[in-house]
Amino acid sequence: MASAAAHPSTTGVFDTGTFGTVRGVLFDIDDTLVDLEYALTTALREVSEHLLPGMDTAGWEKFGRIFTHETTHIYDRYLAGELTFNEQRLLRGRAALGHFGVELADGEESHAWVTEYARLQPSYVRAFDDVVPVLDALDAAGIPYGAVSNNVHDYQRVKLDSAGLSRISVLVGTDTVGVPKPDPAIYLEGVRLLGTRPEETLYVGDNRLLDADGATAAGLRGIWLNRVGETAEGFAGREIDSLARLLA
Ligand SMILES: [Mg+2]
Repeated sequence: MASAAAHPSTTGVFDTGTFGTVRGVLFDIDDTLVDLEYALTTALREVSEHLLPGMDTAGWEKFGRIFTHETTHIYDRYLAGELTFNEQRLLRGRAALGHFGVELADGEESHAWVTEYARLQPSYVRAFDDVVPVLDALDAAGIPYGAVSNNVHDYQRVKLDSAGLSRISVLVGTDTVGVPKPDPAIYLEGVRLLGTRPEETLYVGDNRLLDADGATAAGLRGIWLNRVGETAEGFAGREIDSLARLLA
């Protein structure tokens, strides 16, 4: 491989600069590798616009925020097996619509809303601009990488592929080992598939608790990818604002 031959001394070891050298890197997927928030909010607006005619930009931002950030307790019920994936989508959509006084009727109206949303949303999924340069650098250094996600494997496989990230072949979902993050087993399955040791493997993700703290507790080197400049009182772990910071 020409790219590896160009850096023979670094093969097998990746120098992240600030975070030292590592032998493997695992990534979260949603809002780490792919801009899920953009895909969710764009599709949401498209399927809900006829229900909220004339709503302004601030209104749509609030609408999207309720669905993506203020109803994560409903997603937790999906992770716990209490709701199907589409049921949690519908409940979150209803919460957002309900905030603006719109109630979806049970049956056909709800079914049509969630079906159309599920059809549209994948078409808006795209990788962040900083992903490909990091994967190129990892390939050049001969460092294995993969993804560990709190959604099921097959759904995330399609998502990565449609975002142009089929090169990420190692993928662990919640159904791979039967537990979600922050259970140590799910991160450790990613490490096992990379063939590295936990302490020499980075785990990078946008959720401070599930990604940085959870991976660190499992023995990996967790890094919080804080793309939006969120403040976190008392967070003493490693933090970056872009995946580009992983490049020495
Ligand atoms: Mg995430």
